Amino acid sequence: MVARAGRCPRNGALRMTPVQQRRCPVCQSEDTEGFLRRERVPVHQNLLFHDPVSAVSTTRGDLFLRFCKDCGFVFNGAFDLRRMSYGADYDNSQTCSPIFREHVNHLVQRLASRKTGSTYRIVEVGCGRGDFLKQLVLASGSGSTGVGFDPSYNGPPDDLDGALHFESSFYGPQQASLPADLVVCRNVIEHVPDPIGLLRSIRMAIANSPEGRVVVETPCVEWILEHRVLWDLFYEHCSLFSAESLITAFESSGFRVDKIQRIFGGQYLSAEAVLGTLTKRARRPNRVPQLARSYARVERQQRASIEQAAAWLANRGRVGLWGTAANSVTLANLIDPQRTMFQCVVDLNPNKDGCYIAGTGHPIVSYSSLAQLRIATIVLMNPKYREENEELLRNAGIDLSLVEFSQQPIVAS
Ligand SMILES: [Zn+2]
Repeated sequence: MVARAGRCPRNGALRMTPVQQRRCPVCQSEDTEGFLRRERVPVHQNLLFHDPVSAVSTTRGDLFLRFCKDCGFVFNGAFDLRRMSYGADYDNSQTCSPIFREHVNHLVQRLASRKTGSTYRIVEVGCGRGDFLKQLVLASGSGSTGVGFDPSYNGPPDDLDGALHFESSFYGPQQASLPADLVVCRNVIEHVPDPIGLLRSIRMAIANSPEGRVVVETPCVEWILEHRVLWDLFYEHCSLFSAESLITAFESSGFRVDKIQRIFGGQYLSAEAVLGTLTKRARRPNRVPQLARSYARVERQQRASIEQAAAWLANRGRVGLWGTAANSVTLANLIDPQRTMFQCVVDLNPNKDGCYIAGTGHPIVSYSSLAQLRIATIVLMNPKYREENEELLRNAGIDLSLVEFSQQPIVAS
């Protein structure tokens, strides 16, 4: 992002004002509109801190979301990649949740069944700790190999007698010469400010594999806007897709989309694409402008009523949050920056136990310590996990209230 010099209206001091990007990074349209402004938010939601002081002094940036009136893509016009640091302390693994594991197991079986020849070269972009890639290579049987890329990967470089290899780096144009029959890119493209650049690199990797395909999973922005999930909009996710904008992105990168569907209760998009020709952008029905404007109209009121509900709960006993890190971090920063309402954030990932969340410094705890912490109420960030969380608490003999901040879906006319 570039900056422009200007004078502060209050004291006349010279200051640099960042220039927002207004052009749509997917279809290059200039016809975009801003609908959400949050200043000085933590740039990372999944970064772990080992003490509250460093958690509070985390790097911050502005979230100025815009939507594209032509293709429906949503992006942060103030995103600055230089502020990001996806190192070893970055952990967005969700595999500790049984319901998420079930989703992953299903995907592994589906992708393993795509193997047609005696070899199957799999590349995973953003492989995290490498668990998914390992599972997929094992399920795909002999002749299958995997290469995983992730700057936060800190395990051994090789596994499965050399069938698996990991690189602690980003996947980019320099990796495009690595041949692949399948490229998997789960929960990554929403972190990338230039999604077309990423998809074009992937296309080069599968260019010589006639059966080659790419699988992308990413949050569905329509679901977020429809359900007014204000904690699903945060800095790390600088690129948010609707089905239409994801198809546009694929087609302008030389792919043909075979299949696209909303999964996980509609919260995510899953797309499979194969090699195609560079297609001139076709205009598609686009609900995003309507949804984004409706969201913008109600966000302030939504936030106020959640703040009121949280204060009411906090007056009646100790309260914790339970959700993926990104959700809890975003909500805590929005309504409880001084840590007066929420005592802790629960996460099933044992690597996070004892760490602190970005921006506010709330401690991250295991659900097993909730009784000891005398937590009376847990706010569940994602109702999809209610049953499994209730079961965990029941089995641990922990008695507390599990509540949700209700969200009335927006019905776009
Ligand atoms: Zn666009």
